[in-house]
Amino acid sequence: MLLLTKGPDCQEFLVDDDDNKRDFGHIILKLEYMWTCTSFVLGNGQVMFLIIYACLSLLGLFQSPIFYSMQLLDIINRFPSLTNVIKAITVNKNQLLMTAMLELILIWIYCVLLFTFFFDHYFNDDIQYNANEKGDTVCRSLFHCYMSTLNFGLRAGGGIGDFLPSNSYFNDSKAVYYLRAANDLSFFLIIIVMFFNIIFGIIIDTFASLRDEKAQMDDDMRNICFICSIDRQSIDKDSEEGFVHHIKKEHNLWQYVFFIIHLNTKDDTDYNGTESFVADKLVQEDISWFPFNKAICLEKEKYLISDK
Ligand SMILES: [Zn+2]
Repeated sequence: MLLLTKGPDCQEFLVDDDDNKRDFGHIILKLEYMWTCTSFVLGNGQVMFLIIYACLSLLGLFQSPIFYSMQLLDIINRFPSLTNVIKAITVNKNQLLMTAMLELILIWIYCVLLFTFFFDHYFNDDIQYNANEKGDTVCRSLFHCYMSTLNFGLRAGGGIGDFLPSNSYFNDSKAVYYLRAANDLSFFLIIIVMFFNIIFGIIIDTFASLRDEKAQMDDDMRNICFICSIDRQSIDKDSEEGFVHHIKKEHNLWQYVFFIIHLNTKDDTDYNGTESFVADKLVQEDISWFPFNKAICLEKEKYLISDK
């Protein structure tokens, strides 16, 4: 606890004042502290980005120039709208991964059934096995079968039925024909139609909601005063100078920031009444000193000194 709140340099760890020797106690505590520090640094996306960028540069320099091409992905980091595109995938990554996992399991079940009953159907004419033979089986083992089902089944628009050769109604036994038909059709409906569209739906939905959120945020930034939260319309209607004058002169965001910095740098014994009031509120993380929903420009008559 001391390590987390006061850091490794605090007085409590000093064993010998002259040698400046420190004792953190148990080795596990020491390791835990190191781990917390490292994970904090690595948890920062910008640090992680720079580490990956440096690694790619070194690999490009010493291994192969191929790695330089990946550095073009830096563009994602530079444009916020591209970051949104990536976010559309990463925000729901658990949901997407779980859906993909379920899909892989379903394909595995299909693969086991196909391997058991239609082992000999896995044949691709396009592969040149050797000079004399045209075509080769793409199902030499269960795993090979799985890879083929994944690779050809997912890429074919109609599922695995598009890839496997169709069987004859007359030559094969009727059972084989009906089983293949049921298998091909259900693969197409479940894997290609349902699961692919669920994954697309998740990504597109997230993208749309991120875009709406950003539009809403931009609209807020343009049309609502950051300090008092009064909207542009009310200020334009009821004040003399209008909204732009209000956010530039009356409720200038940066003047508030400068005031807080001024309080932090000023000696607290020199504070005047207002300053010590605001400094107290800042310590308590209380924002009630902001003129929330209040603006002098809207209540002029209240503050005007009457001539009478
Ligand atoms: Zn305001």
